[in-house]
This record gives sequence, C-alpha cells and structure tokens, in this order.
Amino acid sequence: TDIQELLLSRIRDVPDYPKPGVVFKDITPLLADPAAFTALTEALAEISLRNGATRVVGLEARGFILAAPVAVRAGLGFIPVRKAGKLPGATLRQAYELEYGTAEIEVHAEDLTPEDRVMVIDDVLATGGTAAASLELIRRAGAQVAGVAVLMELGFLDGRAKLTPELGGAPLDAL
Ligand code: IMP
Repeated sequence: TDIQELLLSRIRDVPDYPKPGVVFKDITPLLADPAAFTALTEALAEISLRNGATRVVGLEARGFILAAPVAVRAGLGFIPVRKAGKLPGATLRQAYELEYGTAEIEVHAEDLTPEDRVMVIDDVLATGGTAAASLELIRRAGAQVAGVAVLMELGFLDGRAKLTPELGGAPLDAL
C-alpha cells in the first residue's frame, strides 16, 4: 500500500551496525518525517483498537517512542516494559536469551491486572526474544494479550515462530 511504501522509504539500512555483518534498521528518518510518523501512529492505533486492547505496552527504548503516541491516539493507557533495574516500584521480572548471554525486562506489577487486554508495540521484531518475554510478563500478571504490532519484522530470523506459542491465538501484525 501507499502507507507501507512511505514507511519503508523512511527506514535506513545501516550496514555493519552494531557489529560486522549485521544490517541495522534505523527508524530515525521515519520519526523525523511528520507524515510518516503520523501514518505509523494511526496504523498501530487502529490495530490496537481492532484487537480490543485496553492498554498499550512499549518495549524500551524505541518501543516507547512508538507506543506512547499510539496510546494517546487510541485513548488507551501506556505501560513501559523496561530493562531490569529501572522501575522504582514492585515489579515482575522476566529473563530471556540473547545471542550471547541473557537479558531481563520488568514491568510494574500494579500496571497489569486480569481486566487488562494488552497490546505490545515495538519497532523491530528480530529473533522475537524480547517480545516473547514481554508476553510472558503479561500472562504472569494475569492480564490478557490483545496482540503484538511492530513496524517491521525481520522474516529471516523467524521471530514469528518463537512468538506464536506465547500469543495464544492473538494476532501479530507487522506493517
Ligand atoms: P529480538 O528480541 O531479537 O526480537 O530483538 C528485538 C529488539 O531489538 C527490539 O526491541 C528492537 O528494537 C531491537 N532491534 C533488533 N534489531 C534491530 C534493528 O535492526 N533495528 C532496530 N532495532 C532492532
């Protein structure tokens, strides 16, 4: 579609970042273009509402930039999922595997209740490890998963396959 072409045209491929052999998808040109950023925000808000979400989770750090305007646009609450050690209140914590070693993410426990239907938003789905860990957090909090939506899915890494069991039938949308 026209919107997909606009979004794609504003993503910059940065070769050998953050290390040799990796092509990094840089979304800063998209964020700097108000037409593209607005189109992205509206598309993600539409998906969130279609999925019956009551809350929008953003994954640190680029997910925050996308999920916050989506939450405002859709009239939903925003919840940050952060790297471990950043949230001041009582948290739920989830470890997940990286290429080398492990990482941990956290959410304020009081932010997720069984009444919530939660939409997870991020810029890039790569291996799916981060998104899968966030769905674990949502499930452990007793909340429902409304879906996952990302700007871009790196299909060759097959994050979709890793995410499918955690989604429990909820949709994964990649613009
Ligand atoms: P995953 O856990 O392997 O799916 O990695 C996804 C996380 O890493 C997301 O939070 C992304 O923001 C980030 N990420 C991975 N690859 C890229 C990229 O090429 N561009 C921007 N972010 C990326």
